[in-house]
Amino acid sequence: MTENSGLFTLDGAQAYLSAEPEMTVEKLSNRLFTVTDGQVRTIFLAGDNSVVAFDTFGTPGKARAYGKAIAATVPGKPISTIIYSHDHLDHAGFAADLAPEAAIIADELCAKVIKLRGAEGQLQPTRVLQGERNELSVDGVDLVLLNPGPTHGSGNLAAYFAPEKTLFSSDTILANAKYGFMPDYHFCNFIRFMRDFLELDWDRFVPGRYEMTDRAGFKHGVDFIDATMTVCQTAFVNFVPIWAYEPMKGYCIGQLAERFADLEGFEDHVGQMAIRIVHHYLMGGWGLEDTPEPRVLLNDLVSL
Ligand SMILES: [Zn+2]
Repeated sequence: MTENSGLFTLDGAQAYLSAEPEMTVEKLSNRLFTVTDGQVRTIFLAGDNSVVAFDTFGTPGKARAYGKAIAATVPGKPISTIIYSHDHLDHAGFAADLAPEAAIIADELCAKVIKLRGAEGQLQPTRVLQGERNELSVDGVDLVLLNPGPTHGSGNLAAYFAPEKTLFSSDTILANAKYGFMPDYHFCNFIRFMRDFLELDWDRFVPGRYEMTDRAGFKHGVDFIDATMTVCQTAFVNFVPIWAYEPMKGYCIGQLAERFADLEGFEDHVGQMAIRIVHHYLMGGWGLEDTPEPRVLLNDLVSL
């Protein structure tokens, strides 16, 4: 079997692409479920006659395992709709293996990146959303999709479920410190956009990886990234060699352990986080996403 390969060019990648992990599903309400393979996490909803699935997981095998988990949880209802939380292949790369006939909803910027990327297995969105807030109804499922601006990846859509008092936001805040390598975080506005989510009424947070948390856990996660950004600036002031892993790791642990050593993975990941974050201050961010008015990204240079 030759799998859809995303961006892999190596034949040997097939074994990785084919593996089907065990999925764990948890029911959050009569309509809302969360599912994880132990690393990535997403959500799906049971509609009147079909399922609305967020994301696809990151390989053809994982997409098939996701589809089987949905079919076992909501039998008799096919996946009619996929919503991409953002453009990244490890979350949204394999709709072709999950539900090739499904309608696909995504933010405009996500759709543009996917069109130009041309990764094998990542299907083009069929319905494109614009703006900070979209309320839509899909097969009886009411959805509130939020994109405050660049936070992580391209066209990141969070989902707010008022009846369940639940917020889903993929690859932004975690309940731990285990996303150390942060090439795709847009730090310029990240903390502000995340704190704005706290103005909504919710008490359960579903992240794009690992375990769920509550408001306090979400706030702690935002505080952690905020504090790490501050400590990275003080590293410059103290002439810590900001390009070197071990000194930055030691400096950050010394500055942050009292408040954040409770986060799983803290000591193993904070050094990587720091190396990434110092380059935000050193270089000025990564392109237009890291400017105070990033909406300039949504010009018409790429037409869908
Ligand atoms: Zn991502």
